[in-house]
Amino acid sequence: MKILKFGGTSVGTPQRMKDVARLITDGERKIVVLSAMSGTTNALVEIADYFKKKNAEAANNVINRLRRKYMEHVEELYTSEEIKETTRQLLESIFIYLHSFSGTEFSESDEKAILAQGELMSTNMVTNYLRSQGVKVFLLPALDYMRIDENGEPDTPYINRQLGALLQAHSDYDLYITQGFICKNRQGLIDNLQRGGSDYTACLIGSALRAEEIQIWTDIDGMHNNDPRIVDNTAPVRQLNFEEAAELAYFGAKILHPTCIQPARYAGVPVRLLNTMDPSAPGTLINNDMQEGSIKAVAAKDNITAIKIVSSRMLLATGFLRKVFEIFETYHTSIDMVTTSEVGVSLSIDNSSRIVPILEELKKYGTVEVDKNMCIICVVGDLKWGNVGYETLVTDALSQIPVRMISYGGSNHNISFLVREEDKKAALQALSDKLFNNPN
Ligand code: ADP
Ligand code: ASP
Ligand code: MG
Repeated sequence: MKILKFGGTSVGTPQRMKDVARLITDGERKIVVLSAMSGTTNALVEIADYFKKKNAEAANNVINRLRRKYMEHVEELYTSEEIKETTRQLLESIFIYLHSFSGTEFSESDEKAILAQGELMSTNMVTNYLRSQGVKVFLLPALDYMRIDENGEPDTPYINRQLGALLQAHSDYDLYITQGFICKNRQGLIDNLQRGGSDYTACLIGSALRAEEIQIWTDIDGMHNNDPRIVDNTAPVRQLNFEEAAELAYFGAKILHPTCIQPARYAGVPVRLLNTMDPSAPGTLINNDMQEGSIKAVAAKDNITAIKIVSSRMLLATGFLRKVFEIFETYHTSIDMVTTSEVGVSLSIDNSSRIVPILEELKKYGTVEVDKNMCIICVVGDLKWGNVGYETLVTDALSQIPVRMISYGGSNHNISFLVREEDKKAALQALSDKLFNNPN
């Protein structure tokens, strides 16, 4: 069994949906995970924001715009009047549901329920299209098997159990379609796996079923060696080790959801990144192999805050770091980078929503300095310490960029630098030029 995930652009128009339908009907047994049509989740976020701000008129305008677009899609996607009508009715019920939040108290779970509608629409549309073509397909409801626990982490035993039972109950199918991104939480309310979470859905399914392969189909020919939105002359990387891919995803390579590689790595299921617009392109294979001595790619993660605690009294005193880290743990804020010196410690966080109480508590242990709008630049490859010279090469590339922190040695695969967001583009371009485009 293979798991294939198609992202927003891959199902972004009726024509693309037809292309996907062609790609997935090759007779092989598979589960197909679909995102919402591109732009839809953003529109749903906008709708929820307006309802939150009690601006029902603006929310209803966006809903009406979206509705018109979807009704045009129906006309374009299907030829049979009967299937058009069935799909229109399904979509209408979703738009009526969206309008129903006008004038009501709006909660966080309402927002999550609104955000889930994009995947519900796209999966129904593609399923109906396949059926109109005579294809036997089962629509697997993600809300019946995908669940997160009280910490927002996937509830793996539940997912394995539910998914297994559903597939067994409908075992006479070769093709299953399901929604990416959406799930339920422990209260039984609709929730999601965070933006870009359809990749995560595919990898969770793939690892639950110990699939043969997980394929992430998107709008580019695999993982590039740098962010193609920012840097000129990037090129696809043909193979990545799981750990390299996990680092790149976590540190900002948007092609993959930040934590989606973990379950595939634990289950040992290879992940292939493929291009829906060019299906025969080789893409990127992510597996256990490790190419010795090569730097693979660079990624960047924005919105980072650096915090430095300086304390002549405390440092080297046993337990100082534990006390500092405990404060972050208390406020459920994870730390990305850490560097230490004799007099203090610097660390970086990407979620600064609890920064006020964190800083209050840290001040008990020393002088605290904060730098906002920072960016982690992460260089990934076979960077173990026996491979002499790589860290010099990377640091040399950044010789013109002010660097706030450097982290090396935390894993065999990564060197990270903290720079100002305004220096990100120059830093990424300098690394590409030095490491990939002109390595001498
Ligand atoms: P999907 O909607 O299919 O999930 P995404 O927009 O989430 O697609 O991810 C694909 C995009 O990721 C590409 O179009 C590209 O602009 C961006 N991207 C950022 N960094 C990289 C990278 N290192 N390699 C490839 N794509 C990247
Ligand atoms: N539709 C969701 C989003 O836009 C999930 C995804 O596309 O992966 O974030
Ligand atoms: Mg994505």
